[in-house]
Amino acid sequence: MPSLPRFDHRCLDALPGDPRTDTASRQVHGALWSRVQPTPVAAPRLLAFSRPLARELGLDAALFADPATAEVLAGNRLWPGMDPYAANYGGHQFGHWAGQLGDGRAIVLGELRRPDGTLVELQLKGAGPTAYSRAGDGRAVLRSSIREFLCSEAMHWLGVPTTRALSLCATGDAVVRDMFYDGNPQAEPGAVVCRVAASFLRFGNFELPASRGDVALLRQLTDFTLTQFFADLGPPGKTGYAALLQEVARRTARLIAHWQAIGFVHGVMNTDNLSMLGLTIDYGPYGWIDDFDLGWTPNTTDAQMRRYAFGNQPGIGRWNVERLGEALLPLFDGDEAPVHAAVEQYRATYAEAATQRFAAKLGLTFDAARGDGALLQQCLDWLAAQETDMTLFFRALSRVVVLDAPPATLPAAVRAAFYRAVPEAHVAAGIAWLRRWWQRARQEARGPAELARAMDAANPKFVLRNWLAQEAIDAAHGGDLGKVQRLLEVLERPFDDQPQHDDLAQKRPDWARDKPGCSALSCSS
Ligand code: AMP
Ligand code: MG
Repeated sequence: MPSLPRFDHRCLDALPGDPRTDTASRQVHGALWSRVQPTPVAAPRLLAFSRPLARELGLDAALFADPATAEVLAGNRLWPGMDPYAANYGGHQFGHWAGQLGDGRAIVLGELRRPDGTLVELQLKGAGPTAYSRAGDGRAVLRSSIREFLCSEAMHWLGVPTTRALSLCATGDAVVRDMFYDGNPQAEPGAVVCRVAASFLRFGNFELPASRGDVALLRQLTDFTLTQFFADLGPPGKTGYAALLQEVARRTARLIAHWQAIGFVHGVMNTDNLSMLGLTIDYGPYGWIDDFDLGWTPNTTDAQMRRYAFGNQPGIGRWNVERLGEALLPLFDGDEAPVHAAVEQYRATYAEAATQRFAAKLGLTFDAARGDGALLQQCLDWLAAQETDMTLFFRALSRVVVLDAPPATLPAAVRAAFYRAVPEAHVAAGIAWLRRWWQRARQEARGPAELARAMDAANPKFVLRNWLAQEAIDAAHGGDLGKVQRLLEVLERPFDDQPQHDDLAQKRPDWARDKPGCSALSCSS
C-alpha cells in the first residue's frame, strides 16, 4: 500500500479557535476558525484527479485507485493526522460590508507536508455544514464542482497563480438548487472538490476582526501571515505590516493583469474571494472572454450592475486592496500613509504588468518611445469594435509575424476570429493595424521564428471556454466523464498546438451564445 502523507496544523496551533465544534450557525467572536467534521455522503466516487498535482504532493497515483481514498476526498473518513476546521472571515460583497461569512461549505482537512518539506492545505469544498453555513446546506453541485476542478488546473498550466484542485468526487447525494433563482428548484448530483493551496487566507479574514474592533486578533492573524508566508518581508511591526500590504497589492495587481491578458473573468471579486497570497480563488460564476467585450460578465447576479465585468476587474482589485488597507489601519495606529502607498503600488504594478503582458502577446519588447503604447491601445480598440474572439485573434498573430511582408489582406486566421460579418472599413482598419504592428515587431532583435514561438507562449490556444465546460458538464450528467478527462489533459498544455484537439480551440458556437452555463452563470452552485 502506498504510504499516506503527514499533516501539520499551523493555523490551529498558532491562532485562537472556537471552543464549539457543532455546526449550528452562529457568530463566532475572538476566534479565527471552528473545528468541524465533514458530513459523510451516501456513495463517494472519485470522478477525476490531477495526476501532476498528486505527484507534487507526493501522493502515489496508486492511492487514487483505492476506494478508501475517495472516502477521504469526499469527506467520509480522515487520514491519520487530519484535524478539520472551517475558517472565520467576513467580506464586502458587491461593494457592501456583509459581516461574518466564513467557510460555509469548505473544510480544511490539514496541512500536508510535501516531499520538498513545504506545507499546503487540503480543503474540501462541498463537504457539509459548518458554523458558517448560515442558510446554506454546505454542499456543492456537480456542475460547479467540474468547473472549479477544471479551471483551477487549467489556470495553473496557463501560469496564473491559483488554488489547485486535486480531485473531483461524486457524493451519491442529491443537492437541491434553484439555479436561476426563479422558483424552480431542482435536485442535482452533488460533488466535492479537494482544493490545495499554501493558504486560503482571504482579505476578508482580516476585515472581520477589524470590523469588530478586535485589534488583538487582527494583530495575531497579521503576525501569523507575515511570519508563515512572507518571512522575507521582515518581522511583525509597523514596517512589516506596511510591507505585507504592499506585497499583497503587488501580487493582486499582477494577478489581475494576467487575468486580463488571457480573458478570464472571475465574476465575484468580493473581498472574501481575494487571496492574501495573490492566488485566483473561489471559482464560481467565472467565465472566459469569447468576443473581446470589456463589459461582459458571466455572473447573472451582476448582470445589472456589471461591477465585476471584464473591464472593471483592475479597478475592483484596487478597491479591494483599499478595503484590506482599511482593515489593517489599527495596526498602523491610524496612519493612512501605508494604505495610500499600497494603493499607489497597486496602480503602478498593474500598469506595468498589464503593459508587459499585452506587449508579450504582440511579441514586443515594450518601448514607449516607439509608440508601443498607442499600438497596443489601437489593437484593443479594434478588437472591441466588432465581435472578435480574443483567444483566436492573439493566437493568430504568430502566423502573421512570420510573413515575408506586411499583410495586404486580412489573414484567414485573423478573419476566423470574427463572430459576424464585419464592415469593410473595419477590415481595412485591421489590415492597417496589422501592417504597422508587423513592421514594429520585425524591428525586434529576435528573428520571426523566435518571435512566433515567444508569442505562442504568451497566447494560449486552449482555454476553458464556457461552452466547453458546459459540454463536459452535460456529458458528466449523463454519466460520461470522458470530456472532463480530455479537457483536463489538453489544458495541461494550453500553449502547445495539439492539432488533434483543434475542436477544443474553436470559437463559441452559435448554440452557446445565450445558453445558461455558456454565457450566463448564477451564483447558485
Ligand atoms: P461565494 O460567493 O461562493 O464566495 O460564497 C459566499 C459565502 O457563502 C461564503 O461564506 C460561502 O461559504 C457561503 N456559501 C456559499 N454556498 C454555500 C452553501 N451551499 N452552503 C453554505 N454556505 C455557502
Ligand atoms: Mg467565496
